[in-house]
Amino acid sequence: AGVFKRTPEGQEAFLRFIRSVLKKEDASMKTILVAGGAGYIGSHMTVLLVKQGYEVVVVDNLRTGHWQSVKGAQKFCVGDLRDTAFLHRVFSENRIDGVINFAACSLVGESVTDPLKYYGNNVEGAVSLLSAMQAHGVDKIVFSSTAAAYGEPEKQPIEECDRTEPTNPYGATKLAIENMLKWCDRAYGIRYAALRYFNAAGSDTEAGIGEDHEPESHLIPLVMKTALGRQEHIGIFGEDYPTPDGTCVRDYIHVKDLAEAHLLALEYLDRGGKSDVFNLGSGTGYSVREIIDTARRITGRPIPVKAEPRRSGDPSVLIASNKKAAEVLGWKPSRSLEQIVADAWAWHSGHPNGYEG
Ligand code: UDP
Repeated sequence: AGVFKRTPEGQEAFLRFIRSVLKKEDASMKTILVAGGAGYIGSHMTVLLVKQGYEVVVVDNLRTGHWQSVKGAQKFCVGDLRDTAFLHRVFSENRIDGVINFAACSLVGESVTDPLKYYGNNVEGAVSLLSAMQAHGVDKIVFSSTAAAYGEPEKQPIEECDRTEPTNPYGATKLAIENMLKWCDRAYGIRYAALRYFNAAGSDTEAGIGEDHEPESHLIPLVMKTALGRQEHIGIFGEDYPTPDGTCVRDYIHVKDLAEAHLLALEYLDRGGKSDVFNLGSGTGYSVREIIDTARRITGRPIPVKAEPRRSGDPSVLIASNKKAAEVLGWKPSRSLEQIVADAWAWHSGHPNGYEG
């Protein structure tokens, strides 16, 4: 009371104040496009964004995604990123404030036998998405990158400035997109956060979503399937690595911690933060045997194992330094390996056939 006087000047000041509030309101991020929003990490992202009050437009071609995993999105547009007419329609019909891109093929082995599929889907999809962003004046993107961008690491823990020399086409396509993003920032002012994931796992038990890949190749879901008796044993790919128990060491990160990092990255870009690359990992490594032992403890099931040869291209140890994400984004993963395995178990035991039942 008394701030705005009942004079012409006072009224003018009041109107200026109202306009500034409206402008601020109008400038804030409201609608986020999640490409690949029907996939494992994308679906968890959508749930978090909706919880935080954002409106979400999901785009997914449903080649590997599941429509059942899309929960709470304002819109769900089924189509391929490479379909430029489709994508322009999505951007025209919705006022998109920022983009998160999860849409990609992500099987390392398949990328070696069919690299053109990976360059086609991952790189061409990203070109199309960035073109639409440029045409519609959208200037923020959070991009799913990968620890596979590093290839064989120089040292542990791995820092963002370390050498990037991917040893498979999957990692190469992700790194190619990171480079493309750098040039697009310079040319068009589209700012980005490229997030290099280590080993994502776990589920959102509250939302009832989880990991469902066909074929499944990742350790934790396969250990869960073994615990459920859906396969006889879990193969251990190599027991002669230079690690404490001879099996590979990886950095497992809860999918909900990952989603939180994307939100922080988006808000960082919205504050005017500069384009950058961040590792997303817990900073702690666990061996294949430690994962299996943890799963035995949590599930109470025996989980038989079988020694198998090394899988080609597997580095012995991959552990993230997450210092940069902590310092710049304020991200601190909070969920333990026990939590990851417990949440994975809740999902797999409740959905032995994935989203099919
Ligand atoms: N792994 C394994 N048996 C399996 C699947 C994976 O021993 O059936 C090992 C694999 O060699 C790697 C670790 O588990 O050291 C994690 O593999 P995953 O495919 O889950 O993720 P990646 O590290 O390849 O991204």
